[in-house]
Amino acid sequence: MPTYSIVIHGGAVTMDPSKMTPDLEAVIREGLQQALQAGWEVLNGGGSALNAVEATVRTLENNEHFNAGRGSSLNIQGEVEMDASIMDGRTLRAGAVNSVRYVRNPITLARTVMEKCKHVYISAEGAVEFALQHGLEMEAVHYFETEKARKEWLEIIQQEEKEPQGHDTVGAVALDQDGNLAVATSTGGIEGQLKGRVGDSPIIGGGSYAVNEACAVSCTGDGEVIMRGALAHEVYALVKYKGLSAPEACREALKLRDEDLKGDKGFIAIDKDGHVAIESNTNIMRCAYRIGEAEPFVAVWHEELDKQA
Ligand code: ASP
Repeated sequence: MPTYSIVIHGGAVTMDPSKMTPDLEAVIREGLQQALQAGWEVLNGGGSALNAVEATVRTLENNEHFNAGRGSSLNIQGEVEMDASIMDGRTLRAGAVNSVRYVRNPITLARTVMEKCKHVYISAEGAVEFALQHGLEMEAVHYFETEKARKEWLEIIQQEEKEPQGHDTVGAVALDQDGNLAVATSTGGIEGQLKGRVGDSPIIGGGSYAVNEACAVSCTGDGEVIMRGALAHEVYALVKYKGLSAPEACREALKLRDEDLKGDKGFIAIDKDGHVAIESNTNIMRCAYRIGEAEPFVAVWHEELDKQA
């Protein structure tokens, strides 16, 4: 049986390096460490991969320095709209929500949909109503909106073209002591996105995919590109049908039709044999992993991954 392990991300993005100030970098590293620890403790205590990925993503959603839950970016109308998905590699059950407001932890809502709803995917007001019916923790809108997100939104709406700007997501994949795989992905989407825009993160096979017989994958980056490439499923298919390991499959998926699927792409994955993978074509890849009781690894810059390889 391979060693239990967890890999997490806080978003892959191509960004002006000067915007990553030392203070920001420090809080991101700390946030990644805390979230990794939350998931790792579940696995170390013999808990399920599903509980581990949910615990990790909840921690990141509660941290305002990541674009998910509190700290989500604002759409063009200055509102938070959050997307999330979760998948259990053991049963292939999945739950997803998009354009959700007021729900403190969209990933827990996705899990509740997976476990308590006859549907896999619900959106917007319907998803919020479902959250209320199931007693999920709710917050007023200002809880989610940070000063940073409001500043970024103002910059966008003051431009003539009102082009969407940065994007980020959080995600986790885990392999537990029983050999089960799971994935969770959650996001506030793209700064200045149109109201109602849905990215890849809630799409099963787009931003998340997990099957015990192959691997668990969470994507981050340009959602329009990732969903057109069905990239989480692409990584799975490369593992399942081409016999690649998770790192090989992520490298191959990154190159997939790079001509017509140009854009930021990042992956984290774990395969059934316990190989962990982190890949991106961006200079920033906020990520962390821990295999069994080995020392944890945390990175913010892609070059840290290159050095470690
Ligand atoms: N993929 C996310 C989206 O398009 C954003 C990101 O991962 O940075 O909503």
